[in-house]
Amino acid sequence: MTPLARQYFEQLDKHDQLAPMREKFCLEEGLVYLDGNSLGVLPRATANHISQVVTQQWGNGLIRSWNTHQWMEKPTKLGDKVAQLIGSKKAQVLVCDTTSVNIFKLAAAAVKMRPGRSKLITEIGNFATDLYLLQGLAKLLGNKVEVIALPREQVLSAIDEDTALVLLTHVHFKTGAMWDMASVTQMTQKKGSLMMWDLSHSVGAMPINLDEINVDLAVGCTYKYLNGGPGSPAFLYVAAQHQDLFEQPLTGWLGHAKPFDFEDDYQGAAGIQQAMCGTPPVLANAALEVALNLMLSVDMHLVRVKSQLMGNLFIQLIQQRCPQFGVESPTDDEQRGSHVSLAHTQGYAIMQALIARNIIGDFRAPKTLRFGFTPLYLRYVDLWDTVEALEDIMLQESWNQPEFLHRQAVT
Ligand SMILES: *Cc1c(COP(=O)(O)O)cnc(C)c1O
Repeated sequence: MTPLARQYFEQLDKHDQLAPMREKFCLEEGLVYLDGNSLGVLPRATANHISQVVTQQWGNGLIRSWNTHQWMEKPTKLGDKVAQLIGSKKAQVLVCDTTSVNIFKLAAAAVKMRPGRSKLITEIGNFATDLYLLQGLAKLLGNKVEVIALPREQVLSAIDEDTALVLLTHVHFKTGAMWDMASVTQMTQKKGSLMMWDLSHSVGAMPINLDEINVDLAVGCTYKYLNGGPGSPAFLYVAAQHQDLFEQPLTGWLGHAKPFDFEDDYQGAAGIQQAMCGTPPVLANAALEVALNLMLSVDMHLVRVKSQLMGNLFIQLIQQRCPQFGVESPTDDEQRGSHVSLAHTQGYAIMQALIARNIIGDFRAPKTLRFGFTPLYLRYVDLWDTVEALEDIMLQESWNQPEFLHRQAVT
């Protein structure tokens, strides 16, 4: 393999159709941000829009703005925007709550839709909240259902006629390994089980076709590749064919058929609206709306192609220049999401040394260094510069200093 040169990366940037998108984001000069898979970058238009919503809609409009600015309709309006990113028709997606809460609502609804079935199947090493929420649900139901968490290779063969739900994360948060959504969904449904996908690490990074694949349920996060801002509300998807039988347990007033009648007895709204619980976060929704509009202005196929190439080039550079790192992610880009994970026993300190050089990735215990590739605001030269810095850190052993070895609360 001929060694790559920086000029090659400069040329790629010159011909990159997505390059102009970088201008739409606030990125400090000299910063290389490889953590957009964990917290996306602030779009330039967000601060102004929020400021307007605060001063005009809230400040001047006050309570009238619920109607004049359709604050109450944002969960469905934004849901329809997310729908376009995940291959869903309208009225199947709602923007509300957190991914964690939405997993609980949909998993509980799935158990009701598959009466008599006792298994909730998921993967060992799935994102912790996905596992915890299923465990909490099983406990609440008096262990009438059981969580079966298995190593990745054993998940598919465990799905049987007693399985109510299979919950998997499309792109694994640590390794970046990607499930084949179509075939797994098909295998699950062949046993009469429901399929729920957690799209937290894939939405905004690649095209997704939930309707075409006939997925039952899905959830996902909006502060990662979608750039909605820290703690921005999550989304949930309930396929139209399930909405009649869909009954979620957090029966708050805004999921009621007529919330403003304030009746004493709960009666769920028709359609996706029933997945609502309480009052929508108006300011967070305002930030998310700007971010979604930005994402909807690009061709998701271009995003995926750039992300795959970035991952491939990064792995190639690491293999050439930093062979002391193991590559934890699939090297086949068809089986990989939009981040690449490297393994090293000193991973934490090495990442801290990199961050001290203004190159930000993150660390996941016990030894994973994660590098997220977000095609809207990353340049190909950023990859080159990152590996150059990493090579230098390893050669100089500059990670081996007390300030880099001390572990902070959030990694
Ligand atoms: C980020 C992420 C979440 C986040 O859940 P929150 O409720 O927003 O904290 C959930 N699942 C997966 C797979 C994630 O990557």
